[in-house]
Amino acid sequence: MRDGAEMTPVASCAAYAVTGHNRGGRMHPESGPRWRDEFQRDRDRIIHCSAFRRLEYKTQVFVNHEGDMFRTRLTHSLEVAQIGRSIARALGLNEDLTEAIALAHDLGHTPFGHAGQSALNACMQEFGGFEHNLQSLRVVELLESRYPDFPGLNLLFDTREGILKHCSVINARRLGELGRRFLEGGQPSLEAQIANVADEIAYNHHDMDDGLRAGLLDLERLRAHALHAEMEREVLRKWPRLDAKRLRHTVIRGMLNHFVSDIIASTLAAIEELGIASLEDVRRQRRPLLRFTPEVQAAHLELKRILRHELYEHPKVMEMAARSQAIVRDLFEIYMNDGAQLPEGPVFDSPEAQARAVSDYIAGMTDRFAMAEHARYRGHSAPD
Ligand code: MG
Repeated sequence: MRDGAEMTPVASCAAYAVTGHNRGGRMHPESGPRWRDEFQRDRDRIIHCSAFRRLEYKTQVFVNHEGDMFRTRLTHSLEVAQIGRSIARALGLNEDLTEAIALAHDLGHTPFGHAGQSALNACMQEFGGFEHNLQSLRVVELLESRYPDFPGLNLLFDTREGILKHCSVINARRLGELGRRFLEGGQPSLEAQIANVADEIAYNHHDMDDGLRAGLLDLERLRAHALHAEMEREVLRKWPRLDAKRLRHTVIRGMLNHFVSDIIASTLAAIEELGIASLEDVRRQRRPLLRFTPEVQAAHLELKRILRHELYEHPKVMEMAARSQAIVRDLFEIYMNDGAQLPEGPVFDSPEAQARAVSDYIAGMTDRFAMAEHARYRGHSAPD
């Protein structure tokens, strides 16, 4: 639905960018902002919402209380936004839209990262499951409660489309226009494609940094990665006496730069080769236009594989994941058995409605709140 408000076109965007002229509207009509454009307004609404602030205390890989040095979902989201903006600017795309999607992409994440999400999904199996992308959409469409005239943040179609990175066919069918591309095989805007890839580039690199710093990731294993080895040789050739910390940062920064530069050059080449001249051209492609060259794509996948084997499946990370999953499962059981413990109280039309309310409540928790709640119900003290 388009709200019909006048809006300032976004300056100096390429013909295939999302601009004020071709963007989808808001679900609830509103007058346009005076000093900002509509995309800035979306970005600003996301920054001011409660779910965004709670990202500070949610796990990326390391549970929040494990150390102050590691990335959280908040710093991860900021890094995704930074990488996203750089790529968007180089490609002449809408930077504010890219940033809004990047900042919102993890709003629906549970406490305890992927471990928490898979535990909650298992608990929700008979009630429609739990998908964190869909939950991020639920946060911005429904769960945030701060405006008098509408639920959620009433974001633009383009922002919501970008937040919904993946989606099952069953869920896509009930999402209308937003779910269409998952059924018909089209692509989202380039801005949405950027936020998606910037997410992967960001976590590959910051997880390398955090994993090495935590002593869980073996530098020798990373040296098996051709690009890492090449980058390290190059840095040491230039600065032979560099200390280990600066060396780590310089190598990781060099790799990040390499991936970002490659995707910009390769995407510009694809745009040129395929004669992409409009947003419609972007949407009708069978595969994403935002792409690495084949060699760099292979290096990107190899880095993900090393991180999965060496870091995400490290016994210490798995041990914490198992404990986190037990907390999520226990909390789910507690709130299903006693709906009076939920903030809304015990009033539900059906077990499905109660399960969804429980899932929303648990998904919105920070790591430490979930641990404190669990400890309170189980009658022991929470870890510091
Ligand atoms: Mg992410």
